[in-house]
Amino acid sequence: MIEEEIIDFLRSKESEMVALLTEWCRINSGSWNDDGLLRMKERLLASLEMLPGSSSVVEGEPFCLELGEQSFPARSLISRKKKEKKSPSSVLLNGHMDTVYGMDHPFQEVNTKEGRMHAPGCADMKGGLVVLLYGLLAYESLKIDRKLSWEVLITQDEEIGSYSSMPELKRAAERNDFGLTFEPALPNGDLIRNRYGVGNFKIQIEGRSAHSGRNMEAGINAIVCAADLVKSLHDLNIKYSGVISNVASIQGGEVLNMVPDQASLCFMIRVKDYDWMKKVLSELEILIREVETHRNCKIEWTGGFRRPPKIVDRKGEKLLGLIQCAARQFGIPIEWQDTGGASDGNLLSHYGLPNIDNLGVCGGSIHSSQEYTVLKSLVERAAITALTLVKIGNEPLRT
Ligand SMILES: [Zn+2]
Repeated sequence: MIEEEIIDFLRSKESEMVALLTEWCRINSGSWNDDGLLRMKERLLASLEMLPGSSSVVEGEPFCLELGEQSFPARSLISRKKKEKKSPSSVLLNGHMDTVYGMDHPFQEVNTKEGRMHAPGCADMKGGLVVLLYGLLAYESLKIDRKLSWEVLITQDEEIGSYSSMPELKRAAERNDFGLTFEPALPNGDLIRNRYGVGNFKIQIEGRSAHSGRNMEAGINAIVCAADLVKSLHDLNIKYSGVISNVASIQGGEVLNMVPDQASLCFMIRVKDYDWMKKVLSELEILIREVETHRNCKIEWTGGFRRPPKIVDRKGEKLLGLIQCAARQFGIPIEWQDTGGASDGNLLSHYGLPNIDNLGVCGGSIHSSQEYTVLKSLVERAAITALTLVKIGNEPLRT
């Protein structure tokens, strides 16, 4: 039986998978750590040699937010492809090697006990990369007539918005028929159905400075203008059920006896679907013009929804059905649910690629010093991946 063949193969590789994950988690690959990312890239390229096909390194593009105050470095991507001669469809297996933990973060150690690993990036998503690699390896080890072409694409900037890798993700979405991304499963093992879209914004306010004692009335206090906007932006959470709004930082002011003439604030808005996205953008414009009129200040805003909402379509539903069926054959029930978090799955979906984007390890507390991976899920999720690939090959999802 094919599932037995897969599980036997992966069980024989289990200690190798754990060792590889340990080695990768010991490399700090925070999104801004160039040296660490380079080391991680070299290790990944070496590991990908276990697979058939050939690898290439694709240069990403540098990116600058509109106000020019935050630039994002060009980050290269790794691609490995294998084309089957008579393949009716092609799958993209996607992941990222960067983590949220920089060199100065206190969480750097790898600890393993009672079947769990605690380590930076062990779930998000170095564990997922191990699942991707061994899932494909198991698939390629099967004595079957393979009908599926595949491409692996690993990026280095997912945790800072995928700005540099966005053009290549778009091209990959266009040249494949569907995608599997290896973000971690939800803590109970569930997959993610729809994801909110995420927009990053910055507002710059220009008021007028004045002496706070001699001619206070001649000034226009930019911080007060910002405070009006903070209140309105936060109230979006109460006003609309499909919107999550978080004002993340506010800056402005210099000395106590001066009316501040500059202030800025940064915020993130998450929206449930495209209708909410349009509504929020027009509401933002209205809120800003109201404050400008009321306070007589000037306001510029930049940013936008660079990760639009991910709404699963019919092909996505079919793909989930195949994954659920594969999981059941290993005795693992899998359901799915919506979440407010975004991933590269949002981008791939926006570019037209139906995908399931959290086929990685079971674990939790990601983006915190408690991040962990349930180690037995390495074999389980790799097995589900391998069998899903077999099923997709047998039952192309083009329609
Ligand atoms: Zn991630």
